[in-house]
Amino acid sequence: MEKQFPSRLRFNLGFLLEASLGTSRTIELAYPTIQVAADLTLTPLTGAFVVTRTGEGIYVSGLLKSQLEITCVRCLENGHVAASLQIDDLFYYPPATAPEGEFVVGEDGFIDLAPLVRELAILEIPIQPICKPDCRGLCVECGKNLNEGSCDCQQERIDPRLATLRQLLDE
Ligand SMILES: [Zn+2]
Ligand SMILES: [Zn+2]
Repeated sequence: MEKQFPSRLRFNLGFLLEASLGTSRTIELAYPTIQVAADLTLTPLTGAFVVTRTGEGIYVSGLLKSQLEITCVRCLENGHVAASLQIDDLFYYPPATAPEGEFVVGEDGFIDLAPLVRELAILEIPIQPICKPDCRGLCVECGKNLNEGSCDCQQERIDPRLATLRQLLDE
């Protein structure tokens, strides 16, 4: 077992376990920044989710929003991409009734959203992240970030091609 990171996304839903089936509450989140796991900090984490008492436990449903830090594969600058984390999960109660690998409401009445939020956030990280759709990347010759302006080597490489094109058009 890995050493457990103390979760800051634990919610006491003990009151809901005592309520009648179908009872629900909305919980809003507005963290400017929150460390979700040892390897993941979300800045920010906002949104809302509804917790509903069901016969099997507590159903959690909602939409959280964040910004994920990325390093652009074209220009190597750090940037952000918007991430939506859709939650639709049953937390089983009592915990012993949960199938293998499913989420549970603890005997203490707490649910921990950190593992779920981490899982959803990691799925949202693009495999080839780019800072913006039209990122121009780095010049392969001099390494200049072309988003900040053109470099001289690019001019030299494009001009001959344009000259050839002009020639073709003239013919
Ligand atoms: Zn970029
Ligand atoms: Zn260059």
